[in-house]
Amino acid sequence: MRLATAEINLTALAHNLAQVKRFAPNSKIMAVLKANAYGHGLVKIAQHLNGADAFAVARIDEALALRAGGLTKPIVLLEGFFNKADLPILLANNFQTIVHDENQLSAIESAKLDAPITCWLKINTGMHRLGIAPEQFDAFYSRLKATPNAKSTINLMTHFSCADDTNNTKTSQQISMFDTLVSGINQAHCLSNSAGIIAWPTGHGDWVRPGLMLYGVSPMENCTGEQHQLKPVMRLTTKVIAVRDVAAHERVGYGGRWQSDEPTKLAVVAMGYGDGYPRHAKEGTPVMIAGQRYGIVGSVSMDMISIDIGSNGNNVKVGDEVIMWGPELPVEEIAECADTIPYELLCNITPRVSYEYQ
Ligand code: PLP
Repeated sequence: MRLATAEINLTALAHNLAQVKRFAPNSKIMAVLKANAYGHGLVKIAQHLNGADAFAVARIDEALALRAGGLTKPIVLLEGFFNKADLPILLANNFQTIVHDENQLSAIESAKLDAPITCWLKINTGMHRLGIAPEQFDAFYSRLKATPNAKSTINLMTHFSCADDTNNTKTSQQISMFDTLVSGINQAHCLSNSAGIIAWPTGHGDWVRPGLMLYGVSPMENCTGEQHQLKPVMRLTTKVIAVRDVAAHERVGYGGRWQSDEPTKLAVVAMGYGDGYPRHAKEGTPVMIAGQRYGIVGSVSMDMISIDIGSNGNNVKVGDEVIMWGPELPVEEIAECADTIPYELLCNITPRVSYEYQ
């Protein structure tokens, strides 16, 4: 039996998908499933997103895993393809590709293909990561229209850099740059990630690309999913494997980084950075045992973390369940304690953790 478990609540997943539809009722949904569905299990999550219109992943191997799992919906490759030799794989598996640079466009133009590929032309409106410059748009669009290797329906896409910050005018600038550029072109428009869906209705377009919010987690700083009526999908749990007394001023864990001023009891729990728990979670980062919060102490090690359960031990005993994050203990809060973002915590779950789908 493995101790560390990610319980995945599929009813919460369905609720969150419905919530995406409430935020963006006129848009189709491209559910973002990259990085093992943000650590939730790629194929299982896809199988329970019947209401999505398409899936999006970063890499071809993720898309192939979805097909191997029997998923038949359209799949969009958010990074596109890297080698011209990948194009027949895209065609054979009905994958759609982002086109974000000249290499990809000329590979498509010069390939020998049996049928055209569905393309999403990605425009850089200010993220400065992937995407063609606005000045290149006319030329790229005309070339894609002209090549028989691309379907004549060419979807148009951009990506927001600061949509999680509602005070930042960058997102409205990106929306208006995109709208100006593509106005009058009767093709599908796709702009918004979760933060765009939640906070920028003018950026919803024909398609939205929710990732984090599907998993019930907020993309906004200092917020939890609950504030957007989302339900956390993952509960990460483990068990207490030892309870020990420590005397005052005894130094605990690697480097002896923590000591108690008074005698106390520690619960040692079977979870560490080997399971994906953040090593930099600071002292006092909460866990929950029997409905009560306790703080972690000392260094997070590969397999174990110590929890201060107080001098009377609060009846905590070996075998008790410990919630590391979940509906009762927002992953957003744990991320803040570890000076990171919830995306990273979810993606970092390692294969040592067993999954239970409910
Ligand atoms: N679209 C693109 C291009 C992305 O890279 C991502 C994720 O990083 C998303 C959509 C989904 O973003 P989020 O998880 O914030 O909804």
